[in-house]
Amino acid sequence: MTNAPPSNAVRVFNMTAFVVLMAGLPFWVWYCLIAVTQYDGALVFPDAAFWSHVQMPNLEGLIFYGSWLALQAGLYHFLPGKPEEGQPLPDGSRLTYRLNGLASFLISIGLWAGLHVSGLVPGDYIYLHMPAILGTANVIVMALCFYVYFLGRSQATEEEKQMNFLEAFFLGAARNPRNGRFDWKFFCESRPGLTFWVLIALSCAVHQYKTFGTVTNAMMLICFSIFLYIVDYYIHEDAILTTWDIIHEPFGWMLCWGSLIYVPFFYPMSAVWLASHDFSLPTWAAAGIFVLGVTGYVIFRQCNIQKHRFRKDPTTKIWGKPPEFIQTKRGSKLLTSGWWGVASHANYLGDLMMSLAMGLAVWNNTLFGYGYFLAFVILLVHRDWRDDKHCADKYGDDWKAYRQKVRWHIVPGLY
Ligand code: NDP
Repeated sequence: MTNAPPSNAVRVFNMTAFVVLMAGLPFWVWYCLIAVTQYDGALVFPDAAFWSHVQMPNLEGLIFYGSWLALQAGLYHFLPGKPEEGQPLPDGSRLTYRLNGLASFLISIGLWAGLHVSGLVPGDYIYLHMPAILGTANVIVMALCFYVYFLGRSQATEEEKQMNFLEAFFLGAARNPRNGRFDWKFFCESRPGLTFWVLIALSCAVHQYKTFGTVTNAMMLICFSIFLYIVDYYIHEDAILTTWDIIHEPFGWMLCWGSLIYVPFFYPMSAVWLASHDFSLPTWAAAGIFVLGVTGYVIFRQCNIQKHRFRKDPTTKIWGKPPEFIQTKRGSKLLTSGWWGVASHANYLGDLMMSLAMGLAVWNNTLFGYGYFLAFVILLVHRDWRDDKHCADKYGDDWKAYRQKVRWHIVPGLY
């Protein structure tokens, strides 16, 4: 079964949304950063004085961010790594991916720590230069988006070639643009963005320590949560090969800008606020937030690994029992036990609990601490809707049977 092409009205609506998102989201990230660093995390009306804090790309930013991308690309390309085959592509072939993310991550963090300890680059350099880095990164990432657009056009399938410029630029001209074995989507989805997110948080912690002589429990909670999330990601790096992004999404502005700018610069706003505040949580609140975050992590991790292992070997036991599943006419098996029997996206629930924990760490001090969680709710509900539609189109009656068995989408009993 193939998807019916969207009507003209839907295409016009989509393209308007693409333009609005590409024009608006970079300003949104700037807005949050300026409000948090210059206005104490208050919701303010952005007048001309507000926008004067935006920094244009400069040479220092170019050297720093250019070196960062080059370091990550070099580590990805040259470090040895376990080769792993992805899921079958529509033509039945499979791409091979190089899994060396954990080593790249540890080297990157070690380098940051080494530069700090040696006194060559202070540990809070990133926090102190965030506006210059963001201004430069936006321009470099836009140039990269054009590069992957042209590369994607040259590697697109006949179906992908039907997209107009705007669709192909925003969504992606091809599913897996590659230079040789260098896979741009796989690389950008993690290395330069996720590791930078950790570095921004650590840099904020160093700044807090330098300013107040202490790292508060709120900052420790946030750094621990981000560190756990990203180290875990790299330990289970192969699990990304069975996710929606890698299997189904083309690679364009949405994923490229999203992974390189939105994730590392917008997600750590709680840590950015705490960098200049000596704020600690009462012990009971810190303990509750810790439990919330770790519970979310366990749900997220178990859920994703259950599907991943099941897709690799359908006899793998789940919660100590043989897996239950629906054998679809398309050939794939849909898991109906474990977390996939509780809700169709319990992994999103775990992710949301972790992001809420990061927001709660700043308590009622700034709404921007909750920006990651609130934006994540919108992103994941929309993603669940898209995935549900994709599965309904792909599996037809088999998806209806799955939905009859598994009623809930993300939060059992609620949604
Ligand atoms: P999933 O890993 O949930 O994968 C969805 C795909 O899995 C479906 O398209 C379908 O693919 C297959 N599938 C659906 N139901 C079943 C089933 N019952 N049994 C087996 N396979 C099934 O989607 P995502 O890629 O969206 O999420 C992966 C993780 O990434 C999540 O934890 C999410 O929270 C996280 N994430 C994090 C983001 C961030 O910014 N931090 C952003 C987005 C996601 P098929 O066609 O192969 O059947």
